[in-house]
Amino acid sequence: MPNASPEPQANLGLDCRECGVCCRGRPGTVLVEARDQELWERHRRLDLVERLAPGHFSLPALPTRSDGQCLYQGTPEHPHDCSIYGLRPQACRDFTAGSAACLAARRAGRRD
Ligand code: SF4
Ligand code: SF4
Repeated sequence: MPNASPEPQANLGLDCRECGVCCRGRPGTVLVEARDQELWERHRRLDLVERLAPGHFSLPALPTRSDGQCLYQGTPEHPHDCSIYGLRPQACRDFTAGSAACLAARRAGRRD
C-alpha cells in the first residue's frame, strides 16, 4: 500500500545490519503478530514460536536477553546483524532506517 508520508521511505544510506541499535534495550516491545507466526510455521521454524516472550498489551513479543537485547541479534560474522533477518517480524520491517524513530534510537545508542 502506498504510504502518504515520505518518512517511512527514508533510509539516508543507513545499514541496519551494521547498526542494530533498535534491537537492543526493548524488552517486550517488539510484538509478534499472527502473520509472523504463520511465516515461521511455513518455514518450519517452530522454535521461534516456542521462544516467544510476554510483551506489552498482553501480546507475544520477541524474546530478549537480560539486558533487553533481542535474542536473535548477532551472527558469527557480525554482532549487530539479525540472525533471522529473512524471517524477522513485521514490527522490525516497519521500523524504517532513517525515520525519526530510527534517528532518535541511534542518538540514544550513540550511533549518530
Ligand atoms: S532502523 Fe535505524 S536504529 Fe534500527 S538498525 Fe536500522 S539504522 Fe539502526
Ligand atoms: S528480530 Fe532481528 S531485526 Fe528484529 S529486533 Fe531481533 S535482531 Fe533486530
